[in-house]
Amino acid sequence: MTKIRTRIAPSPTGDPHVGTAYIALFNKVFAESQGGEFILRIEDTDQARSTAESEQAILDSLNWLGLNWAEGPDVGGPHGPYRQSDRKDIYQKYVNQLIDDGHAFRCFCSNERLDEVREQQRANGEDIGYDGHCLSLSEADIQQKLDAGEEHVVRMKVPTEGTCVIKDVLRGDVEIDWKQIDMQVLMKSDGLPTYHLASVVDDHLMEISHILRGEEWISSTPKQIALYQYFGWTPPVYVHLPLLRNADKSKLSKRKNPTSITYYRELGILPEALVNFLGMMGWTMPEGEEVFSVADMAKAFDVNRISLGGPVFDLEKLNWLN
Ligand code: GLU
Ligand code: ZN
Repeated sequence: MTKIRTRIAPSPTGDPHVGTAYIALFNKVFAESQGGEFILRIEDTDQARSTAESEQAILDSLNWLGLNWAEGPDVGGPHGPYRQSDRKDIYQKYVNQLIDDGHAFRCFCSNERLDEVREQQRANGEDIGYDGHCLSLSEADIQQKLDAGEEHVVRMKVPTEGTCVIKDVLRGDVEIDWKQIDMQVLMKSDGLPTYHLASVVDDHLMEISHILRGEEWISSTPKQIALYQYFGWTPPVYVHLPLLRNADKSKLSKRKNPTSITYYRELGILPEALVNFLGMMGWTMPEGEEVFSVADMAKAFDVNRISLGGPVFDLEKLNWLN
């Protein structure tokens, strides 16, 4: 039997978000309920938006909430998280493999050209996306551009026909037409990977068996499944969790609810109350117990019993638990 391994992969681009703690909690209790491991990976490949302070705040928040992770590079003391910016060479190697195998290609299009294409597509009422322009470059053209030091990105190819079937534990088969999927950039001109490439490579190398993440990522999943196929790897099992909602059922937003974990911490909310509260987001204990710990939740957890009916972030309930 394969070992159960889960992860969260937050991007350190702002205040530590309650949504991160919610996803971490479900990943942790699921892994623990199966005798598995939960790991933390910092997705900091967007260099313009990632900050060291934000990363530190994520680590502090998870530790404060008792959502500690199982392993990571040894940094002296408690192990650190995996960090994608430390793994550039790995992604470079795998993107080269995709190019060599004909599953990805170099794209030299300027932003101006891409803007024009999009404008044209909009005017014609067509789907917006990359038009495949650089697919027709010859080897010689490409070599010439590379020799001239022309900036470029690497894009993935996408099947042109049929549908991608996502097997989701909670939703059953979710079908998405390949035609709706863009030829996504995998590697930027600065040599850093984008989310899709880095997360597929890491989830595979880190032997992640199950991906529990918010439902806002469903539309990303076909791109990732295509990459698994190109590499000849088995995709993990997907569990897309329900989004946290404001009282009016809209997606949880700063405007209607504070979303920073630091905010609740400074307000005097106890960590036990906050994780208990987040545990009620789509999950109910077998006997309907309202007050429970992470360990209680792990003991009783059954991923099939997660309810998809939009969990509401109700501050009155949080205050009551506190
Ligand atoms: N970096 C993404 C995030 O911020 C990770 C999404 C995923 O879990 O694949 O949530
Ligand atoms: Zn191009």
